[in-house]
Amino acid sequence: MHIRSIVAPLLKWFAGNARDLPWRRTRDPYAIWISEVMLQQTQVKTVIPYWRRWMEQLPDIASLAAADEDTVIKLWEGLGYYSRARNLQKAARLICEELSGKFPRDLGGVLALPGVGRYTAGAICSIAYNQPEPLVDGNVARVLTRLLGIERPSKQKQVVEQLWLVTADLVKHAVGLQRTSQRNAAAFNQAMMELGALICTPRNPLCHDCPLKGHCIARKQNKVNRIPVLAKRAPVSKRRFIGFIIAWHGNVFVQRRPSGEVNSGFWEFPNWLVDDTQVQPADLASTKLALGQVEPESLCIINHSITCYRNRLEMFVILRTRKPLLAKLKGKWVSVANLGELPLTTAHRKAANQFAC
Ligand code: SF4
Repeated sequence: MHIRSIVAPLLKWFAGNARDLPWRRTRDPYAIWISEVMLQQTQVKTVIPYWRRWMEQLPDIASLAAADEDTVIKLWEGLGYYSRARNLQKAARLICEELSGKFPRDLGGVLALPGVGRYTAGAICSIAYNQPEPLVDGNVARVLTRLLGIERPSKQKQVVEQLWLVTADLVKHAVGLQRTSQRNAAAFNQAMMELGALICTPRNPLCHDCPLKGHCIARKQNKVNRIPVLAKRAPVSKRRFIGFIIAWHGNVFVQRRPSGEVNSGFWEFPNWLVDDTQVQPADLASTKLALGQVEPESLCIINHSITCYRNRLEMFVILRTRKPLLAKLKGKWVSVANLGELPLTTAHRKAANQFAC
């Protein structure tokens, strides 16, 4: 079987089975770019409301370039990987300042934008402009390694390069089959991703319903559950944090995370990483907050993961009747009623919601 023989049945399947997603109703490269960046590591159903909100408030490159940082990261709050939102704005400003506000139309120009790698550039050029540019994401890699019966780790450099070469050939072949009014580069790349999302899923793929089942080496050799071969995950580290909601008369104290750190630009309650499991919140409060003798009240424990870290955030409340002097801390007081408008990290949003209950 030549791998090119998958193209026609895949295109036919996509024409009848593609999901009606809001970003599929446009060819605006800006709208497609936003959707592609949001979709990285995030499920379609989560992204839809985020994308809609973003497009309502920042409908074009100029509005994104002109927006203030809090607006941008507030619209991203909950999606994680916040450097992506910042890179979107950096790229929008570059487009306005250096490209007269026009989204680049060629792969090199798109690749030159901050935060844009070859997957995103391939997605924009193929989906918005129907250019025969390839893309490989996790879904495409899974489908192709199974179709080709590749039993080496799918993230191994040679395998990755092989997959890019194969898809580059396939998308060109798809365009070669194109008739007037068809957009086969856009359709083929989206079809590969759609098949991975709906049929060729990581566990229990629906091989019976697969339009490519007759072409699939993993299926023929009964190796579907062994392919793709995934690399071992990095070992995880546990970390303990203690944080304080310091409150007086409906106001709470928050700090902005400094630039260069994970979640920079977001706001959070004062908190510290404590290596020693014996550290007591009252001792920490008296040394870090300099509020004298305090008895913090336990509010909640939030477990969350960031990359290889499993974080345990223990949140405490310190209530005061008068505005405390927090000479050792940089930050600001905000009313609890306005906390919803401030971009907070996900863990601290949960703590804020608990506090407001
Ligand atoms: S036959 Fe099964 S394993 Fe092969 S591509 Fe289709 S869904 Fe994936």
